[in-house]
Amino acid sequence: MLNRRKFLQVSTLSAPLLSIKNIFNNTAAQTKPIVVSTWADGIQVNNEAWKILSTQGRALDAVEKGARYIEGTQNCCIGLGGYPDRDGVVTLDSCIMDEHANCGSVGAIEQIKHPVSVARKIMETTPHIMLVGEGAQKFALENGFKKEPPVLSNDAKKAYHEWLKKSQYKPEINIENKKGNGPFAPNFFDDGSVNHDTMGLVALDASGNMSGAVTTSGMAYKIHGRVGDSPIIGAGLFVDNEVGAATSSGMGEEVMRICGTHLVVEYMRQGFSPETACRKAIERIINRDREKAKTLQVGFLALNKKGQYGAFAVQKGFVFSVKSNGEEKVYPSKYVFDLGAT
Ligand code: ASP
Repeated sequence: MLNRRKFLQVSTLSAPLLSIKNIFNNTAAQTKPIVVSTWADGIQVNNEAWKILSTQGRALDAVEKGARYIEGTQNCCIGLGGYPDRDGVVTLDSCIMDEHANCGSVGAIEQIKHPVSVARKIMETTPHIMLVGEGAQKFALENGFKKEPPVLSNDAKKAYHEWLKKSQYKPEINIENKKGNGPFAPNFFDDGSVNHDTMGLVALDASGNMSGAVTTSGMAYKIHGRVGDSPIIGAGLFVDNEVGAATSSGMGEEVMRICGTHLVVEYMRQGFSPETACRKAIERIINRDREKAKTLQVGFLALNKKGQYGAFAVQKGFVFSVKSNGEEKVYPSKYVFDLGAT
């Protein structure tokens, strides 16, 4: 048995060793900077964000840069090249959140190329968080953004015209895999039904601060004025600098019902890994209505304060992209059902 004197000797000797070990463990376990994004397009998005992260820049600047990049491409699901709503109008949703829980958001904004930067402007210059529709566009124009007509990609145009023939609102799951053509393949079926691919990215910078951004044209052929989960703080994006950050893609209504990304972050706060936190949020969706869940897709992606990441989806087919000093990779997410994808 240790007497008090011996105990003091042992503890004094071992204290520095323990603290060195702890410091070593913490350092070893921490990956920073790091950025993770939804879908395979996230590889290019991450590369843009990396230009900021790799030069000791702020995660907030990195996620905005990544989102702006994809907004500027002819992407069928994001930015002005995205799928229109059922009236043929392209409306965009976006949000951004920083390490201090500052956040900004735009819903159903039209003819503005970079909604993520409008969201940031709202965050930094107004007492509000979210502006929508005409008001969001007016704010953007007053703040130096230019009105630009949407330039529907050929794929989006073709899909919309096909869809008009039946005008059925039928979001399909995991089209990329159904067609077996990979993530950059035309993202629609012959009858015009489409998949949904929002860009959500979250980052941890070299200073240990986290931020996130989301940008999307939302569900194709939605009712004009519909806003999805993507610009809703706590649904499409949530950042808590003490714990971690999460983002989502998929059927926004299901994500909103459970305050999806807030839930994921809260699970991480309870000590669950990012992947388990995402899985538990997905289970909430499935347990609510298992049969309905089989017909839809939702994917969550999370990054914790240590730079550990993970994802989980309702269906097979959700993928995510990771970039850090040690890796640059697209990973398939784990999932519950393997119904739509072949
Ligand atoms: N989550 C988006 C929405 O519901 C859709 C998507 O992920 O593509 O608007």
